[in-house]
Amino acid sequence: MADSTWSPSSWTSKPVAQGVEYPDEQKLQRVLSKINTLPPLVTPSEVLWQSTLLGGNNEAFLLHAGDCAESFDACTHENISSKIGLILSFSLIVVWGARLPVVRIGRIAGQYAKPRSSSTETINGKTVTSFRGDNVNGLDPDDRTPDPDRLLRAYFHSSTTLNYLRGLLSSGFASLHHPRDWSFNHVRSPSLRKEFEHIVEGLSDALDFSRTIGIESMPPYEQGGAREAVGEVDFYTSHEGLMLDYEQALTREFPLPPSLATKDKKKAYYNAGAHFLWIGDRTRQLTGAHVEYFRGIRNPIGIKVGPSMVKDELVRLLDIVNPDKESGRVTLITRYGATKIDDHLAGHIQTVQDSGHPVIWICDPMHGNTLTSSTGLKTRNFGTIISELTSCLRIHAECNSRLGGVSLEFTGELNDEGFSVTECLGGSMELSEEQLGLRYQSFCDPRLNFEQSLDVAFLISNHFKN
Ligand code: PEP
Ligand code: MN
Repeated sequence: MADSTWSPSSWTSKPVAQGVEYPDEQKLQRVLSKINTLPPLVTPSEVLWQSTLLGGNNEAFLLHAGDCAESFDACTHENISSKIGLILSFSLIVVWGARLPVVRIGRIAGQYAKPRSSSTETINGKTVTSFRGDNVNGLDPDDRTPDPDRLLRAYFHSSTTLNYLRGLLSSGFASLHHPRDWSFNHVRSPSLRKEFEHIVEGLSDALDFSRTIGIESMPPYEQGGAREAVGEVDFYTSHEGLMLDYEQALTREFPLPPSLATKDKKKAYYNAGAHFLWIGDRTRQLTGAHVEYFRGIRNPIGIKVGPSMVKDELVRLLDIVNPDKESGRVTLITRYGATKIDDHLAGHIQTVQDSGHPVIWICDPMHGNTLTSSTGLKTRNFGTIISELTSCLRIHAECNSRLGGVSLEFTGELNDEGFSVTECLGGSMELSEEQLGLRYQSFCDPRLNFEQSLDVAFLISNHFKN
């Protein structure tokens, strides 16, 4: 990690993919200076604890999930708690069925910026700058000029989300000791609801039993259960590290704990805006600014790996961001598409194995499988998502490797009548093309809804049980 040639701003001497042109440079610098003085959103000890979980336990299952992009307007009590509720429900199914500890990383509290394949788009016959996410410009076609004040608003919305998240997690919402408090009445598929209620019953009985015989927490953490005593769960935040000006402003140097400090290295740089950051498929150029920034931060990082990644390039990338081959430092998030995974994954696994780089492989079955419905909506087919996921499980097994988790775009959001969103086709609820328009709420990529997400959780849980 960070050698003497690295600094939080060394990325500025490299080509910046997906860069944003601000009309007022002075205003940008004023905003960034302000952000630089604001308190960190996450602490180094949280980041290190997460690294330990990722690096030290190769039986853990990483669940990376949330919205494609958060919006400032969606920063509400309901949205945050339904997102956390779904992440917890999903992980409970995996913990209980597969007896695997789950490390939960939300795409939350900072996932505002979006990469775009084109810098402009045409809306109602008018060509405008593309929407780049709420921290850059507005979704409204008349509000597309990048405004630095949005970075400050991003900090504010991240901190308020995180504040509420910390409140929820420390006040029993997440406690596996009260699973009966989690309501599944809105799950419309009777079989899905039954399966879930069955798990909750089993877990509640196990906890009652452990209380009766005086064991504080059961199942034990190592077997996928609650954390000691308080029964809280490990939950972390993440976003794509895309807007490097902002990431630099949130980069802080902290002393390393004595167990990690050496004679030559007593401090490290952390990105204090999230526990985990990832490099997107469009910004992972070996000599580019994003890879330069990422190589110097102490946080665990993700790298998206798509069909265009050349085998040799992947190893060179790992050499740059993880020269010391530290376990838990890099998670590779593969996103080839259901029809392409067979052509690429085995080769990538083999090359990484040969290089001796320790990585966690997780499957993103969403981003290689986007399509446009006959009604013109951006969607994904549940069957195709499952196809990429099952191919991924099979190929890892064939290559003597292990799939260590999934990366999903999902939402537990419900409308006032208790109905889920309708953005992806299929699933046990058999969502049809005609139904897509009913409650299509994403302003970015289509997300699995509550029921479709639980379908995926049961598939994973059953796979690892066997
Ligand atoms: C994303 O995760 O929302 C995304 C844009 O992914 P990718 O970089 O893999 O296309
Ligand atoms: Mn997306």
